[in-house]
Amino acid sequence: MNERDSEQVAQMLAERGHTLITHEDDADVVLLNTCSVRDLAEQKALGKMGMLGRLSHSRPVVYGFLGCMAQSRGASLLKDVPHLDLVVGTQKFHRVADYVDQALAKKRLEAARLDDVRFTVVDTEEESGSQGTIMDHLTDRHQVSAFVSIMQGCNMHCTFCIVPYTRGHERSRSIPEVVDEVRRLAERGVKEVTLLGQIVNLYGRHEFEKVDGKSPFVQLLEAVHEVPGIERIRFTSPHPIGFRKDLVESFSYLSKLVEHIHLPLQSGSNRILKAMHRTYSAEKFVTLVDQIRSVTPRIAITTDIIVGFPGETEDDYWQTRSLVDRVGFDNAFVFKYSKRRDTPAAEMDNQVPEPIKEERNHDLLALVNEWAKRRSDKFIGQAVEILCEGPSKTNAARLMGRSRGNKIVVFEGDEKYIGRLVDIRISRSTGFTLFGEVAAGN
Ligand code: SAH
Repeated sequence: MNERDSEQVAQMLAERGHTLITHEDDADVVLLNTCSVRDLAEQKALGKMGMLGRLSHSRPVVYGFLGCMAQSRGASLLKDVPHLDLVVGTQKFHRVADYVDQALAKKRLEAARLDDVRFTVVDTEEESGSQGTIMDHLTDRHQVSAFVSIMQGCNMHCTFCIVPYTRGHERSRSIPEVVDEVRRLAERGVKEVTLLGQIVNLYGRHEFEKVDGKSPFVQLLEAVHEVPGIERIRFTSPHPIGFRKDLVESFSYLSKLVEHIHLPLQSGSNRILKAMHRTYSAEKFVTLVDQIRSVTPRIAITTDIIVGFPGETEDDYWQTRSLVDRVGFDNAFVFKYSKRRDTPAAEMDNQVPEPIKEERNHDLLALVNEWAKRRSDKFIGQAVEILCEGPSKTNAARLMGRSRGNKIVVFEGDEKYIGRLVDIRISRSTGFTLFGEVAAGN
């Protein structure tokens, strides 16, 4: 989501004649789009901004914090980071280009000693309709895969999570607006779209009606499915609540919907799920996974898990562990619980000591990795359809793409494959990455 918001800002700046550069040392404008989900992300952003202050010793540079941390910390950031000029929240990405131009003009006057009034902007207001402002894409890139933001905000109020405070309440774009964006992407050669929302399956629940028993989200999937040129549809992330039969069944008749679901579990203990305000039980989660797998047997399922939530006992942790083993996820992000200001969990008694979080994190990751390897190894010897995205990030002499199940596949081949669907015969796996050769007939 942050990547998508950053792309919107970058495109608006590009339209005004700014250039995206690869090396920060040459920048006249430094914008950090920030995440607040865990404290570490905020600390990293603050550290990075502090370090980049050196650039302004030799020329006028505009500095800005955007996104979630800007939203939640607001004007106090100007005190913490003296060289900061802009603090722009999550509903104001479309205003950034204006603020940058104003700040740059002021800085240049200051440098010429024509003005000595410091210009700063803090804009963290709510703006109705802001969910419709994330709709432009960088036009100078040959992307084959693009993110499409379909809604903003979250009403779930999980007790550990800062997102409802930084992103506001749920607001959805209309189906025609989203389809229009997808159509424009397809016209530029994009073959895969990932629909983004905090709780993506609850898309449109406040704005649009069910039709023939189908939720607005399934209606949207059906509409996007009709767009010529789009070959694959992904979405992230759904919540187990509201993941109903219509969505489970849509995988059986929407052939472009890929066989992958990222379904955050958070904990396998009912006591902890309740304290987290996740509103489903471990049993319900397992039943949902079973239903999904019975409709789509080859589906890859990945998840998010938090270890060390306040009050998590050894027994609670073991219930999580055994559920992970029961489901056998294709992969999982495991997070150590991080206290977030103003969230209910931050005030709970029985905070878990850091070394215990560390130990559970380490133990669970080992199990997750074991399952990831087992799930990946099954593809050895098989031909897998990938969408080739470009050179591999670790070895530019090779190409990479993703399978429909979201496995990264690396292979040797000609540039002609970039942007195409190619069958790759898998020869080995490291657990997270599959390696292979172009299959005969491609
Ligand atoms: N609604 C988003 C969640 C984004 S945050 C989505 O559905 O994708 C991604 C993950 O970060 C969450 O699923 C959760 O596992 C983790 N997370 C959120 N708050 C956290 C916290 N306070 N400490 C540790 N992990 C957290």
